[in-house]
Amino acid sequence: MRILVVEDEVDMANALARGLTTQGYAVDTASTGLEGVGLGTVYDYDLAILDLNLPDMDGLEVCQQLRTEKPELPILILTARERIEDKVLGLDLCADDYLVKPFHFDELTARIRAILRREFRERTPSLIAGDLKLDPVSRTAQLGKKELSLTRKEFGILHYLMRYPGRVVSQEELIEHVWNERVNIFSNSIRIHIHSLRKKLGDNANNPQYIETVIGQGYRLLKTSITNSHENTDEIS
Ligand code: CA
Repeated sequence: MRILVVEDEVDMANALARGLTTQGYAVDTASTGLEGVGLGTVYDYDLAILDLNLPDMDGLEVCQQLRTEKPELPILILTARERIEDKVLGLDLCADDYLVKPFHFDELTARIRAILRREFRERTPSLIAGDLKLDPVSRTAQLGKKELSLTRKEFGILHYLMRYPGRVVSQEELIEHVWNERVNIFSNSIRIHIHSLRKKLGDNANNPQYIETVIGQGYRLLKTSITNSHENTDEIS
């Protein structure tokens, strides 16, 4: 899952990015409101963390613009503004949650999990493809009754493919959603992760049951035997 952090204080932005990456999220940071709106508009984030005191515009304005551009995007305000009026305003205007600095990192991640759980309960129950099952909230995957032990990247790739069963997903798209923006990834690396993922699924590239390689285009989760519990997965972008 991919998180946008809009924060102008470099140390804070770096600490958030580092901490959240450790928790398995892909993180992009923006140091101005304008950059935040830009990134938030262009990319599909699962959550935005937003500072209010920004150098170029007020965070509440950023919040409202993001809300207009991406009505589904969960937004958590993380700010030093601690007055009750500010909290009420932020939550009423645009935000899903509001946390005051200084904060404890564990509380932030607990709130993030709670927001994502709420979102995913509404929009994404477990994804199911044949005997393959993936729970985006608990970040677990099962093949039949067997728990799969996936790396962060493998999980991210499988999650993304299962969101769009039957559709060809390009390597670029996978990189965009599973890796963060600034990491320079060679396409070869995707192939390596797909290879190990297939191995764990007991899948065969030449006669795939789950992940098909579409030469020159990307990868596709085979739609045969898909019994996705949520019909319209396209709305989860
Ligand atoms: Ca600030």
